[in-house]
Amino acid sequence: MKKVRFCPKCGSKDIEDIYFALYFIAAIGRKRCRKCGYQGMFFPECDEEDYKEITKKFK
Ligand SMILES: [Zn+2]
Repeated sequence: MKKVRFCPKCGSKDIEDIYFALYFIAAIGRKRCRKCGYQGMFFPECDEEDYKEITKKFK
């Protein structure tokens, strides 16, 4: 089953990876939501079918 990652704040799937050059040794990858601008290390992941249920909670 296909996995989707979504924003914990607004539920958007429009997420991009941002990497900070300063932390290249640790290779810390952060992600950012393009919709609401939320940034963080943790973005939840779920099955595509469950995602439909989850997005209902955000409305
Ligand atoms: Zn968001």
